[in-house]
This record gives sequence, C-alpha cells and structure tokens, in this order.
Amino acid sequence: MIVRQLFDPATSTYTYIVASEQTRDAVIIDPVLEQVDRDSLVLSELGLKLRYVLETHVHADHITGAASLRDRTGAKIVFSKHAEVEGADRLVEDGDRVEFGDNFLEARLTPGHTAGCVSWLCGDGSRVFTGDALLIRGCGRTDFQEGDPSTLYQSIHEKIFSLPDATLIYPGHDYQGRSVSTVAEEKTFNRRLGNQRSEAAFVEIMEGLSLPYPRYIDVALPANKVCGRPEPKDAAGNIETTWAPIVRTPGGIPEVTTAWTRGEVRRPMRRFRFIDVREPHEWVGELGHVEQAELVPLRNLPLVAEAWDRDEAIVIVCRSGGRSGQAARLLESMNFNRVASMAGGMLRWRQEEADTRAA
Ligand code: FE
Repeated sequence: MIVRQLFDPATSTYTYIVASEQTRDAVIIDPVLEQVDRDSLVLSELGLKLRYVLETHVHADHITGAASLRDRTGAKIVFSKHAEVEGADRLVEDGDRVEFGDNFLEARLTPGHTAGCVSWLCGDGSRVFTGDALLIRGCGRTDFQEGDPSTLYQSIHEKIFSLPDATLIYPGHDYQGRSVSTVAEEKTFNRRLGNQRSEAAFVEIMEGLSLPYPRYIDVALPANKVCGRPEPKDAAGNIETTWAPIVRTPGGIPEVTTAWTRGEVRRPMRRFRFIDVREPHEWVGELGHVEQAELVPLRNLPLVAEAWDRDEAIVIVCRSGGRSGQAARLLESMNFNRVASMAGGMLRWRQEEADTRAA
C-alpha cells in the first residue's frame, strides 16, 4: 500500500493519498482546494489513478478540493451519510468499505466534532485517518456544526481506542509539526481523552474552552456543503458573499489563488469577469494572456469600471499581483463588493503550467 501525507501550511491541514501498489488505484482524503495542482502532480508522478475523494467531514477551515479533483479525474466524492452535503457521489454508513484495486478503507463513523464525521481505517488495520475527531494529543472542537462532546467521547472510545494499540493515527490537522501517532500513545497521552479520563471530565473540558470564531467558516462551510463549489447565493438568497475562496492579505487586499482561478475561469457557467490590468504590450508579450480575460489597463480602470454593475464579481490579474492588488482596492473604493486579485499574477500562472508540463 502506498501512503502519502501532504500538508497545507495556510490551514495546517493534512491530505492523504492512499493507493494500491499493484493496480495503482488511489483515493485521496481531505484535499484542499488551493493544493489541487500539487496533489494532481503527486498522483501523476506516482502513476496513480484517482478513484475516490474521501472527506472526513464538512470542513469549516478550508475549502475542499473534492469537486475540482472530480472534474479533473472523474473520481467519486464520498461522505458520511450523516454529513449535510449536496453533490456527493456516495454516502457511507458505519462499516461500509471503499475499495480501490486490491485495497479498501473501512468507514468508521465518529461523530461529535460534526454530526457527519467519519474516520477511515485501512483494510489491513495498519492505519486510521481520523479527520478532526481525534487529533494528536487533542481532538476537534465541539462548539460548531452540531458538535457534541459526549458524542465525540463515545466515538473515540468505541471506534478508535478499541483498535489495536499499534494502529497508526493520521489526523486531519496538526498545528505543532507532528504528523502521526498511535492508539496506545493517544490512550495514554491525549490531553483531553487520555489517561482514562471520564466522559464527564471530558465534557467539562470541552465546554470550558473559549475558542475564537473560526476564521474561514463563513466562506468554507457554504462551499463545502456543495463539495467545494462556492454557492451562488447566501442563506437569505441575496447577493452571494462566498463566490470565491478569498483570503485578505495583511495589507487588506482580497486575493484568490491561481489554482482556484484556473479551475473556475474555464467553466461555461463562470460567475466572474476576469480583468487583466496590464498594458497592451504585455497582453501580447512574453507571458501572453488568458483566453477568457478582458484587457483594461489599470490607468483606464476607474473610467471604464464606472459603467459596470457594482454587484458583478470580478477577478483581476496583472504580471505579478501588484497592480491587480491596487485595482482590487480601487474597485472596492468604488463600491464593488465582489472583487479579488489573483495572487502571483501571470508569472505564477505560467510557472504552474511549466511545473505541470515538467511532470
Ligand atoms: Fe473540522
């Protein structure tokens, strides 16, 4: 069995690729949208065929790459039957098997962090991928998304701590640089559940945590409830606020990644204008331009944009991200509320293409 652990530094999220050595059939667990190009490269370098995208739950801290990977590979998206999600290809119950080549992963429902959490146990019993149910020396929070500390306690004890001591535990995140643990280690050293802590004591700990409101939850949850497609409308049915996975830089510039833009810009139902603010000689220069883009040099933008609909979503591109950042701020000052600068610009766009070709 091939197992690869991949990390997204922006959200401290682990993604796993698990594959059969013989048949090269693979699954990926908890992919992150911004890392889909990287993950695709690993799959292609190892000669793997992606069959399933497994989600341990509906995440609140990053947008899943599930829909994007399904578009690219035809892989099927799998969630727990109890996850509140639209657009999955398969929903599993406790004990269901997801087969890939001569290997399989067994679903172990471990609700408590969310109602739809599932851990994935390797068919040979060697490893379990616990998502946010059980983390190394900790566990997922229980104060959002139908979280419940008693439920989580029972899940961990019945479905994880009941596994053989040597079973390796691969978590959904780690914020302190750790990558893997074992059942024996967590039974002993887990700060919240270890050392035979009682359910009542665990519930008291969890209810006493005063954790900050999750940073990305308002963007991530609506998108993840549709397998990673940003929703067109907000809960009230009004102007969408989650049209793109926007991250604000410390300087206040709303940015999207080249990976996300590349995936979205080619869609027939694309929901944003793609504006290139470079000069005409750059548009036809060495870096060229993206077919779907419209050229509006930055110096002309204030005048040209004056005529545009303020509710229209706009992604801006330039050479390296400087001018497009300025343009995003300019448009925001003109009361456009759905604008983003594509971080890294055409330079990064072309570099990524070169990296992909090199594979
Ligand atoms: Fe989570």
